[in-house]
Amino acid sequence: MIAQYLALKAQSEGCLLFFRMGDFYELFFEDAQAAARTLDITLTSRGEHAGAPIPMCGVPIHAADGYLARLIKGGHRVAIAEQIESPAEARKRPGKSLVARAITRIVTPGTLTEDVLLEARRANWLAAVTDGAIAWLDLSTGSFHTRADTPAALAAELARLAAAETLHAEGSPAPAAGATARPASDFGAARGEAALKGHFGVTTLDGFGAFTPPELAAAGALLAYVKATALAAVPLLCPPRRELPGSTMAIDAATRASLELARSSRGSRSGSLEAVVDATVTAAGARALGEDLAAPLTDPAAINARLDLVEWFASHPTARPRTRQRLAAAPDIARALGRLAIGRWTPRDLAAVRDGVSAALALKAQLAAEPLAPALLGEVLAAIGAHGALLAELSAALVPQPPVEAAGSIASGFDAALDALKASARDGRSAVAALESRLRAETGVASLKVRHNGVLGYHIEVPARAADPLMVPTSGFIHRQTLAGQVRFGSVELAGLAASIASAADHAAAAEAAHLEALREAVLAESAGLGGTAQALARLDVASALAERAAAEGWVRPLVDGSTAFAVRGGRHPVVEAAVQAARGRFVANDCDLSADARLWLVTGPNMAGKSTFLRQNALIAVMAQAGSFVPAAAAHIGIVDRLFSRVGASDDLAQGRSTFMVEMVETAAILSGATARSLVILDEVGRGTSTYDGLAIAWAVLEAVHDDLQARCLFATHYRELTALAARLKCLACVHVRAREWKGELVFLHEVVPGAADRSYGLAVARLAGVPAPVLARARSVLARLEANRDKTGGLAAGLAELPLFAAAAPVAGDALRERLAGLDVDEISPREALDLLAELKAMG
Ligand code: ADP
Repeated sequence: MIAQYLALKAQSEGCLLFFRMGDFYELFFEDAQAAARTLDITLTSRGEHAGAPIPMCGVPIHAADGYLARLIKGGHRVAIAEQIESPAEARKRPGKSLVARAITRIVTPGTLTEDVLLEARRANWLAAVTDGAIAWLDLSTGSFHTRADTPAALAAELARLAAAETLHAEGSPAPAAGATARPASDFGAARGEAALKGHFGVTTLDGFGAFTPPELAAAGALLAYVKATALAAVPLLCPPRRELPGSTMAIDAATRASLELARSSRGSRSGSLEAVVDATVTAAGARALGEDLAAPLTDPAAINARLDLVEWFASHPTARPRTRQRLAAAPDIARALGRLAIGRWTPRDLAAVRDGVSAALALKAQLAAEPLAPALLGEVLAAIGAHGALLAELSAALVPQPPVEAAGSIASGFDAALDALKASARDGRSAVAALESRLRAETGVASLKVRHNGVLGYHIEVPARAADPLMVPTSGFIHRQTLAGQVRFGSVELAGLAASIASAADHAAAAEAAHLEALREAVLAESAGLGGTAQALARLDVASALAERAAAEGWVRPLVDGSTAFAVRGGRHPVVEAAVQAARGRFVANDCDLSADARLWLVTGPNMAGKSTFLRQNALIAVMAQAGSFVPAAAAHIGIVDRLFSRVGASDDLAQGRSTFMVEMVETAAILSGATARSLVILDEVGRGTSTYDGLAIAWAVLEAVHDDLQARCLFATHYRELTALAARLKCLACVHVRAREWKGELVFLHEVVPGAADRSYGLAVARLAGVPAPVLARARSVLARLEANRDKTGGLAAGLAELPLFAAAAPVAGDALRERLAGLDVDEISPREALDLLAELKAMG
């Protein structure tokens, strides 16, 4: 057996091997040690190998999913080796009785489909990265996408996906920590194209889109991996969809993290934007909303179509709860389909399809009768298929709540032959009961019982003291077993009954299994339509849930168009507002208008005044609006934001071994190279991570660049009040500050954003608020007094900046004569010889 084990282990490519033995999956050697550590289960040993005991541990089959989930979370991959014949079959083979085993499946984070192993409300992406493209799919729902773009855009896309598992070609750099390296040969474009055509049974992919070679390579690598892990099973995949560059708001990893879109800074879902916006009632709706918020759209028409639907639900307070009620009763059709396709399913997945479809049809009938519905509602309803025949079939065939096993899942009345088999098994069992009472009467042993167990099957049990008369051959009883207090017998009549019960039960089980398989095939034959229905339900859930939130929180419909407006009246931060309200505080709403002559706001104010909150709430409002949600404001006009950048000074990224300041500068560089005049840039305390002079200098230069070169809409928070001097020079820069006031020696934050620069920084007052001891504060006060006295003499930190040339960034640099000489050249006209002379001349000029 160990030889068989080692042979399978050698095939398992670094996975832990689950080795099926009866009702357990056993692990041996290092696998056992690793699993025992992760699962906190007992490590034992068994037999010897090479003179040492073999470490072993095991998990029971019925609880295997839970253990699998923990191993996968613990960073392991698991190969499952099943027994592929019964012990009886093995015994029939000459000379051998070892049951044949084979690896039937490899469980990895990106290829899960089981409910218990997945987060219901989140997509489970498997991604593959090539030079120039990524492809990603969710095996649990069949969703499949590709995208070709620049390296920076692809990195942002990967951050959005937060894939459970990411593949890359061996030898190429890993795109993420813990990425899975796969053979480079899996990443061939021609091979990928052939694999896609093969999988979808088409001769050309043109119908799906014009895929670039890197996209084909990435998609092909995904298919190869799915095949290698699912082995024989064929997963359900929708045809791949090309995501076009620019169709969604570009948001890079740092921005996502700093705005806490899907996860809070502590890594949990609670405290994130998604958590406060999500009021969906189905898992599929939650997944769709998560995807919408992660990838806000850039097409005003598409956004407004979504907003129309939300508005309709918001203004129909009776249709909304009825819709949500029906949705709440609808199971997750998409994931049930995924499991049915890949062959890891139970009758409950068929019931999920049945109940999901009937909920969808009921909802369609309800909503189709509504007058004045928006166009998108019509489109969504049209996507809900009729599925009449399938629904009738499933409804007739399945019991209302099927068990997880085949036996007992087919309704009576569906198949007369099956009913007859079940009846005869039942009759057999009542004949056994009748036999028992007859035998009691005949033998006079009142405690005689007919029992059933796995070893003897049906047998007659009597107390030992009453057994003697039955031991004689003429009794009709056949002795089987003597235990301490009982003796067990068989009889010819009982054996006959047992055989007929077993045969009826076997036939019934086979018939039920056959019906289930036929139902599964019928469902899969309609999988495309069912997928459309599932998506339609998810969209209705998203829209009605957003309307629900809007009504509860007083959110309004934003005006979204192709302009570069950004005007928010009475804006609030949805997450901070909830926290402030929970603490019985009142959130102060603030306006923000980045119109053309004031597209850059310099926000000053003391620490803790609410600068970051103000900055982020405006970024979140843009994200929400373009995702198709109402926004926490009294009114909002958002011109499409193509890219969103948010940088927060001084956030350590020690895990990657970069200093705070380095990270900040890398991120700032990314903005300066990536932002456009349509972008929204949020800069919070840039330059804080270094010395005062460096920091101010960098902040100054970045502000100028954003203003003059990028011309993006920008909110820039700083504690360098010296920067406000720039307002005089930069014509589209406006100064605002968050108000605070000292009142009876206490600092009071008003959280109000008002025009003008802050007059003072209140740093010492904040320090006092934070509990810095009085002697230290007194000392700081005297140091400050001296510094300020000196500032008056020298002009302070920003002394000398007034003399900077007006257009510093664009000012001509040294070498103007060189430029002139170069400009006057006609390169096509000069000979190689002249070129060389010229080079010497230019060198001399430099
Ligand atoms: P800063 O960036 O100026 O240091 P923050 O934005 O981090 O300040 O805000 C500090 C705290 O003040 C927040 O955690 C919140 O509790 C409170 N706060 C911020 N803005 C508001 C507001 N508009 N209304 C009410 N409370 C606010």
